[in-house]
Amino acid sequence: MTMTMDQQELSTEQRLMQQTTRDYVDRIVIPFIRANREREWLFDPDKRLPKEILEEADAAGLRWLGVPVQYGGVELDPGTEAQTFALIATELGRGDAGLADKLAQGWKVSVLLRHVAPEHLQARWFPRYMADPSFLMAHCLTEPKGASDRWLPYNVPEANMDTRATLADGQWTINGRKQYISNGYDASLYVVYANTNTAVGMLQGTSSFLVPRDTPGLTVTRCNETIGGRYMNNGEIVFEDCRVAEDHLLVRDDALGKAGVYFRPGKILQAAKNLGTGIAAFEDTATFVQQHVQGGRILIKHQAVAVRLAQMAIKLDAVRAFVRHAARAVDHNAADADKLCNMVKVFASEEVFEVCKQALELHGGHGAMLDVGIEKYFRDASVYLHMDATVDVSAFKIVKAMFPDTAGVYAGPE
Ligand SMILES: Cc1cc2nc3c(=O)[nH]c(=O)nc-3n(C[C@H](O)[C@H](O)[C@H](O)COP(=O)(O)OP(=O)(O)OC[C@H]3O[C@@H](n4cnc5c(N)ncnc54)[C@H](O)[C@@H]3O)c2cc1C
Repeated sequence: MTMTMDQQELSTEQRLMQQTTRDYVDRIVIPFIRANREREWLFDPDKRLPKEILEEADAAGLRWLGVPVQYGGVELDPGTEAQTFALIATELGRGDAGLADKLAQGWKVSVLLRHVAPEHLQARWFPRYMADPSFLMAHCLTEPKGASDRWLPYNVPEANMDTRATLADGQWTINGRKQYISNGYDASLYVVYANTNTAVGMLQGTSSFLVPRDTPGLTVTRCNETIGGRYMNNGEIVFEDCRVAEDHLLVRDDALGKAGVYFRPGKILQAAKNLGTGIAAFEDTATFVQQHVQGGRILIKHQAVAVRLAQMAIKLDAVRAFVRHAARAVDHNAADADKLCNMVKVFASEEVFEVCKQALELHGGHGAMLDVGIEKYFRDASVYLHMDATVDVSAFKIVKAMFPDTAGVYAGPE
């Protein structure tokens, strides 16, 4: 069989990872989602995702990505790491967006720890992560105030995080609140960012810590009931005199400067996962319009329907090409990689959202029904608009990257 353009360019590792993920999604994830449409709406978050789904992901090797080989993990070819992550995330997104987030947080935090965690912390925590398929990790930056200021970033003391960490007697004491955290409700280990110097801007005065869930003073206060991506169990965490051993400091003062290894592939992964949601919406719609009859003929024979379907396919191929382009820029450490990551975030958010809206339209009333599953794609795509920075803030960062001397200068408090 002739291969598509995308398939022709894949390495052996990429083909293997793509096929492994596709098998897992087709065999485990899609049948589960289709048979349990109501389950993501259970208001007891502990009852939502059966543990077998993560155990199967573990058995397929999909939890180990980013973990150093010496701890039994899988380090992807560094020359194509972001591109391969994108292929895997797209396949997972085709199955379920929230599950894709759940697993992707593990890969992103693993890559971050591999780069910034001292050896003793890697030796302590990677084996525990590897040993337990239900061990999840989370990355806690966002607070009730100022999330967009951080993304931009506005590097002035008044835009600093409210979460503070102070060092005394060999322990860090953390106080503050983190909200909207993916995996926040059920993670076992948290990367937490806190202000450690109020006199300077966040790029000089933010430190990061590794905080185990059972640390006294850390309380998971809620699981957020989100519109989409519900299996990620997005949560809120409060720190009240939470004492962390001094040796669980990850990066002192320059934590945001060192977090590019998390943020850049993170944006690629998010866009790629969202592409997977769009592909699933397209595939279901293509099936529907070739079966459902109106006006005496299947829908696809009505030209207005066929044109909408073509537009969905064009959007998805454009997103796919842009994801690959931006991922290559990250893999090559190109000068414009940050700008491209923000561009693909904006483009993938809006185009996939539009694809899912078209899927709703072409399904008529069926599209609104929980048991059909089209409304789920629309909900899942809507969540991505405000993950990893909002669309507008990401767009602003693009302009800032192009015109650094004039755009994006902190305006100051009113
Ligand atoms: C499902 C989900 C998962 C998430 N996961 C995580 C996670 O794992 N870890 C984490 O740390 N965070 C996470 N977040 C938080 C996410 O990064 C923030 O929600 C996002 O950055 C927006 O911040 P905010 O909600 O505080 O909105 P705000 O910053 O209050 O923005 C509100 C509005 O104001 C606009 N705005 C703000 N500032 C400006 C400006 N200077 N110029 C123009 N417009 C502006 C925004 O574009 C937006 O329209 C998650 C969010 C969601 C929804």
